Amino acid sequence: METRSMANDPKKELLHQQRERALQLGREDPPGAQHELQQLFESPFPDVRRLAASAAGKIAERHKDTTLSVNLLSLAEKDPAPQVRQYALKALAKCPQRIMGPIDGIKDLARDTTQPDYVRRAAAELIAAVDEYERKREGLRNDICNRCRRHISAEESRKSLDRYGRPYCRHCFDEIQLENVNFERNVEEAKRRRTTDGTAVQSMGEKRIAEWLAAQKIAYIYDDRYRIAEGDLIRPDFYLPEFDIYIEYWGMDTPEYNERHEHKLHLYQRASKKLISLSPHDLPSLESTLSLKLSRYIRLH
Ligand SMILES: [Zn+2]
Repeated sequence: METRSMANDPKKELLHQQRERALQLGREDPPGAQHELQQLFESPFPDVRRLAASAAGKIAERHKDTTLSVNLLSLAEKDPAPQVRQYALKALAKCPQRIMGPIDGIKDLARDTTQPDYVRRAAAELIAAVDEYERKREGLRNDICNRCRRHISAEESRKSLDRYGRPYCRHCFDEIQLENVNFERNVEEAKRRRTTDGTAVQSMGEKRIAEWLAAQKIAYIYDDRYRIAEGDLIRPDFYLPEFDIYIEYWGMDTPEYNERHEHKLHLYQRASKKLISLSPHDLPSLESTLSLKLSRYIRLH
């Protein structure tokens, strides 16, 4: 066997090559760029997929006949890395006329409260771009409510176009707002059910923690009573019996809840227990944060 001295880390080398190529394709748009970009969309490196999406957006701006948007759409909806989703959404917003068929997946993304804010914002901007394009194409008038067909004022038109990309009267504007609030609430409600292994949990954060633990084959006891300190009973969110580790997901922010939070922390500390604290701030990368915090105590595969 021959060893290569130049590239001592082939993975790093490939990452570098693919990154540079994605940047170059976006800059120079050579023949066959679209085909190459599609391949880069499948790169194992999120950074490369992100740059490829960005390059696709640049090319789409130049050629209105590009066919990349189908692949971009699946990148935007399904890529596991949120930054790749964000860049794909931004690229698509540059060529809304190329999006074929319904954009229900994008609408779901915009409403999905488990998505990072920047992804939801990029999804909302894309929806607005598509609406704007459709409105132009259909030659819709801005002085008529798109829902009830009533004549509307310039102020109503501006306000609703800013918010929803379509003209609505004051009444319909309020109704749509209410519908959206209810939709978000229902999404949250629906999530407040059961994990895949059947545990009923109280929040999306807890659901994801439970499912991640199950996927790692780490046994856990959810919301049970444990005596952790002499005379003090505590009710941890999760207890990992194999490792004697507690996990608390501090999901609320009310004065009463915070007081309990303080008291609980105090008990854990006094009993010198291994405690992992998570909160809604960790939601964008809950699993990796949990994995990182756990790896301080146990070896994960
Ligand atoms: Zn109306």
